[in-house]
Amino acid sequence: MSKTIDKFNEHVMMTYGRLDIVLDNGEGRTATAEDGKEYIDFGSGIGTNSLGYCDSEWADAVCAQARSIQHTSNYYYTKVQAEFAEKLCTATGYSKVFFGNSGAEANECAIKLARKYSFDKYGKDAGRNIIITLVNSFHGRTIATLSATGQEVFHNYFFPFVPGFVNVEANNTEDLKAKLAENKGKVCAVMFEFVQGEGGVCPLTKEFVDAIFEECAKDDILTIADEVQTGVGRTGAVLTSKLFGVKPNITTLAKGLAGGVPVGACLADEKCCDVLTKSTHGSTFGGNPLACAGGKVVLSKVSDPEFMAEVNRKAEYFRKKLAEIDEVEGVDGMGLMLGIRLKSKKAADILGECAEKGLLILTAKDKLRFLPPLTITYEEIDKGMEILKEILDK
Ligand SMILES: *Cc1c(COP(=O)(O)O)cnc(C)c1O
Repeated sequence: MSKTIDKFNEHVMMTYGRLDIVLDNGEGRTATAEDGKEYIDFGSGIGTNSLGYCDSEWADAVCAQARSIQHTSNYYYTKVQAEFAEKLCTATGYSKVFFGNSGAEANECAIKLARKYSFDKYGKDAGRNIIITLVNSFHGRTIATLSATGQEVFHNYFFPFVPGFVNVEANNTEDLKAKLAENKGKVCAVMFEFVQGEGGVCPLTKEFVDAIFEECAKDDILTIADEVQTGVGRTGAVLTSKLFGVKPNITTLAKGLAGGVPVGACLADEKCCDVLTKSTHGSTFGGNPLACAGGKVVLSKVSDPEFMAEVNRKAEYFRKKLAEIDEVEGVDGMGLMLGIRLKSKKAADILGECAEKGLLILTAKDKLRFLPPLTITYEEIDKGMEILKEILDK
């Protein structure tokens, strides 16, 4: 095994099941390992490298920022954070943003914001602090976001978890209504992913999404869309909420937002954008200039209708190619966030076999998952699909 891997395993906590690949550099949609082997990328570092590896405009912007000013803390203002915030609010239609550094941090902000909204308006004694989340959801790895995550497998070891989360079955309007009735007057928000990513690329139905908004409107309950994975062009629009024709009070973003630099954003509408006041929330690195510089480039691409039209054409092609594989039972997801159910093979085995043949993919539950860079080309899709088909249909 490589020296790098030995060194790694001696000094880095073993919290991940890694493939025996040491990635050294990348260009476009191809990553190159330490041993010179090349890989086509259908995973984008879990949907973060939205413009592929080292896109020249993005790299120039981040490098220029590093040579100008790399960090200031939030004792001060920076021009690049102001510009990024303006671009982000314009592109998404939200009033204000709080910047953190990850999806979990963006969701922590949303949880705090929702609870304080009800605290401010109804008082502490009202106890309006329950947040409804969905079964099979994923919201992050901090204690609060793990508590929010509606999957029992995550609720172990780290007791006690944060109270105040009630789970509703996704796409089950009766269950939603029942849980809201059971907790009447105690619920401050409903939080959901439009397409459950880690849960297995499972989209919500339009009917269920509409029911969430209808029910929440009746009782001044905030809606929180966790678009950490679905946002920033991934599903074919800047925000997936636009495709569903709704406007959540809060939307969280992270993964693809800055093209591979750590970032998290919690966006709030006019109803709740002034709830978090001085000293009630913060983050040392939040709004870091390198992240803002990278994010500006990503936003300028995904706000361009021509760029997004091309993403949607490629997504359709990608989906069609997946459906043509005999072993594929069905294709789920939206845009370039896709999952496939397999007829007889095990997703985990396929992941390793694809890597051996030079294709990087992901899994989610028992599905293979694909989050290719938004800039992937038809030729690269063809090349990757050839490898995938050869492995699945052999
Ligand atoms: C990845 C993910 C998170 C957590 O993001 P981190 O950056 O790993 O903290 C939260 N919600 C969803 C929907 C995600 O896909």
